[in-house]
Amino acid sequence: MAATLSLGSVFNNATYTSFADAVLPHTQNTFWHEFTEVSTNYVQLNYFERLWAAWYAYMGNDWLATGIMSFTMHELVYFGRSLPWIIIDQIPAMNKYKIQAQKVPSAREQWECAKLVLLTHFTVEIPQIWFFHPMAHFFGMSTSVPFPSLWSMAFQIAIFFVIEDTWHYWMHRALHWGPLYKNIHKIHHQYSAPFGMAAEYASPIEVMFLGLGTVCGPILYCAVTGDLHVLTMYAWIVLRLFQAIDAHSGYDLPFSLHHLFPYWAGADYHDVHHEKFIGNYSSSFRWWDKFMDTESSPEAVKRRREKKIAQAQARKAQ
Ligand SMILES: [Zn+2]
Ligand SMILES: [Zn+2]
Repeated sequence: MAATLSLGSVFNNATYTSFADAVLPHTQNTFWHEFTEVSTNYVQLNYFERLWAAWYAYMGNDWLATGIMSFTMHELVYFGRSLPWIIIDQIPAMNKYKIQAQKVPSAREQWECAKLVLLTHFTVEIPQIWFFHPMAHFFGMSTSVPFPSLWSMAFQIAIFFVIEDTWHYWMHRALHWGPLYKNIHKIHHQYSAPFGMAAEYASPIEVMFLGLGTVCGPILYCAVTGDLHVLTMYAWIVLRLFQAIDAHSGYDLPFSLHHLFPYWAGADYHDVHHEKFIGNYSSSFRWWDKFMDTESSPEAVKRRREKKIAQAQARKAQ
């Protein structure tokens, strides 16, 4: 098996003595020069691993390299994944799949949404991204090549989904408690018929608290096992963004994931939450709401109402 290439130490022995050293690309070489160097010296690496190694060598600062890559990736994926839903909103033939068919967001609503989302990205998410690296690094997160196996990445990401969903359920349920709702969560509920970009339309405080569920799972996992690669973290963030944006899309398509995997939450689940303001608090799965009897489907609401009536009648009869 190929030896692990530890980037920070192989390509950069410098100590950072000034702010400029820390924030600017450190090497005098171009990115492609580094890429050629890596390709010549580490022939066993695949193309993506060489690109990865060249990036970290070019930056000469793992913390900065990870921070820039994370933020750029987050913005590209967030707005990139929202774009198809904006286009679908303009196609009348797709309206039959819209869950609240009469409520198509206007261009103005989308623009207002984009402005707040960008503000929270620059004020709340940049610091979160910035502090993730040193914390995870402290617990042994790797940035080196070769990459971990797909199987180990999938296994870890599945665990992160379960942790995040649990965190999200309880935090989101707490955010529906009167004072927290009025002062924090109300902003997210501005759109009773959500659309993709509205996934992170929320108070910065909410973005920070719910964001902890995304970041703390991997940190905790890394602290316990000492086994986490930053690439797994990137893949997890991408999938989590897909989940959040699709859940807010407002469309239940024939190939939506919950048709294949019934416990996957998806858009029809979260749309009801925005419409009714109560129940369906989870992000990715349906089991917490089922277990705690907080589902928001008409059947669940009817069942709870019947149960209440039966309890009242039983009390009367006593
Ligand atoms: Zn809510
Ligand atoms: Zn929502």
